[in-house]
Amino acid sequence: MEEKNCRYFLINLRNAGKKPGQKQNPAGKRILWKEKKPVLPPQPIKVTHNFVITKRSGILHDRECFCVRRIRHGRQINKIEPDTEVRFCKWCQRKAVVRNGVKDVSDCEICEKFFDEKQVSTSLLTRLFVEKGAEAEMVPVGIQIYCGDDYWRIRWKNEKGASVLEHNNYVRTIEGERYFTKGYHEQHIRPNTVTSALRYLMAYDYTAHHREAAKKKVSHEYEKSAL
Ligand SMILES: [Zn+2]
Ligand SMILES: [Zn+2]
Repeated sequence: MEEKNCRYFLINLRNAGKKPGQKQNPAGKRILWKEKKPVLPPQPIKVTHNFVITKRSGILHDRECFCVRRIRHGRQINKIEPDTEVRFCKWCQRKAVVRNGVKDVSDCEICEKFFDEKQVSTSLLTRLFVEKGAEAEMVPVGIQIYCGDDYWRIRWKNEKGASVLEHNNYVRTIEGERYFTKGYHEQHIRPNTVTSALRYLMAYDYTAHHREAAKKKVSHEYEKSAL
């Protein structure tokens, strides 16, 4: 037993009643009480990855969420996989999904600000950046989003905050295949809002898009301008 944490005094019960001068039995150590070892408060985990999932409740937090400071036991991950079921923290879900979607984490803040300004809902951003696994990058002319096989761009149009959706150029071969070329063309959408732009690019399917176009029997020229 660790004597350091014990209080004891020297006594032998068999000496009880003996007068001073009578032969005393050697005294043994009798432990009076054990002092409790000093308990240190449990330390919060050191965050080294983008997200922390609490061990007990399984809630995912962004690394900057204020709740993270209180998490003692957590699993850390860098990416939210599209096919895993995630329970998001209600305080930091928006930040977490944007962080999951940006190519460069230093774009996180400006990207989030942009979606705030354009009033894009958190559920739409979750579908885009987690379920679809899209990747966003801030570029000088706007924001570039890679989703599925295609590159899209929401390009700033004027100082008032208007923007246009642009789609990467490609050439359609006779067999109906396509190959990508340089540059972008404007993709006309109604209404021209960022929310509808994101919905459009998430739902875009090249094969389906051209099947629809063929049904409408559009001329080759028109098809070219509305790739
Ligand atoms: Zn959180
Ligand atoms: Zn297009």
